[in-house]
Amino acid sequence: MCDIYRWEATAVVRVGVIGGGQLARMMIPAAVNLGIDLRVLAESDGMAAGLAATAVGDYRDADTVLAFAADVDVVTFDHEHVPQDVLSRLVDAGVAVHPGPDALLYAQDKLLMRQKLSDLGLPVPVWARVETEEELQAFLDANGGRAVVKTPRGGYDGKGVRVVSAATEATDWFTVLAENGAGDALLVEELVDFRRELAQLSARRPSGDLMLWPVVESIQRDGVCAEILAPAPGSAGRIADVAAQIATDVATGLGVTGVFAVELFETTDDRLLVNELAMRPHNSGHWTQDGSTTSQFEQHLRAVLDLPLGATGCCEPHTVMVNILGGPSDGALSDRYAAAMGVHPTAKIHNYGKDPRPGRKVGHVNASGRDLDVVAYEARAAAAVFQD
Ligand code: ADP
Repeated sequence: MCDIYRWEATAVVRVGVIGGGQLARMMIPAAVNLGIDLRVLAESDGMAAGLAATAVGDYRDADTVLAFAADVDVVTFDHEHVPQDVLSRLVDAGVAVHPGPDALLYAQDKLLMRQKLSDLGLPVPVWARVETEEELQAFLDANGGRAVVKTPRGGYDGKGVRVVSAATEATDWFTVLAENGAGDALLVEELVDFRRELAQLSARRPSGDLMLWPVVESIQRDGVCAEILAPAPGSAGRIADVAAQIATDVATGLGVTGVFAVELFETTDDRLLVNELAMRPHNSGHWTQDGSTTSQFEQHLRAVLDLPLGATGCCEPHTVMVNILGGPSDGALSDRYAAAMGVHPTAKIHNYGKDPRPGRKVGHVNASGRDLDVVAYEARAAAAVFQD
């Protein structure tokens, strides 16, 4: 048989992504470029990644997920919410799953994450597991009277995070816990006095290789990521080294595969503490699409397929990413393309194809260049065109 037929018989690699949000959507161009067959199990019709949706169904239903996985070479994720029993069924059926359930567990449950990171000796805020208002009040009394209470599971974009100065401010969450049955608890943490928030994005192959992008600054508004400055200003040297060491220890200690993000606090007394882990491409890495040699979406595909990882250097000294939150109240993002593109030709616009809604992440803008102020202005001004 001539070579061309052999190629046809073996070539196409299939990656299955569970979840049809914008992260799955942004894997599509990377998959197209690499000739990878990307398949998406979407929650419903009309999702952001609908272009690649080969199935629509409930990711909490093992039979649905197993049927989807039967046709792919590796399963990965757009979010971390697939239940552990469903993930176990996949692994038992011999499906390659990256990140695997044993690692993903720590991105699913903030209490388990805090315990594991503490066991590994990684720097985290002072924290405790609290099952009752009395235990929460005791933590408050011992930690300056204010603290951050978090629901261990299911939170995102600041939902499930609350600053309290009295245990009674979390009564509603304790009531829900009591209704769900014994054994559940809330996470309480010291209110960290931080100078800024950082994020260290990295990727790890199942065979072990790890690549790290430069650490970035993450500017949050109302618990939601608003902007990313890449690299984080003034981070070269010690901050970059410590962030890289933390991410390396997280990756090896937890056995993470694929792209993952470690969210960090830079404290006013110059320490880095781990806030959160995300085991998938992350909002703090959207800048890599236009600002790094390898985008996080391509890197994620390479990593989960155990292919050699791409270079993670910056194309320009600075890239700024600005989220488009909410979008126009009177139409689609594309209605404003002409206005944005005409005035900001250097801005790279990314549209998630989602209906505008207050506070919703519907797209982002990247701008890159030599001068941080100029780049930040371009990205902010272009993003502002899409918002009322
Ligand atoms: P989510 O899972 O919803 O993203 P996070 O745990 O990342 O929740 O918290 C959201 C935001 O709340 C953080 O980005 C940070 O601004 C603030 N925050 C979280 N934990 C603390 C803390 N211990 N001290 C001070 N601020 C915190």
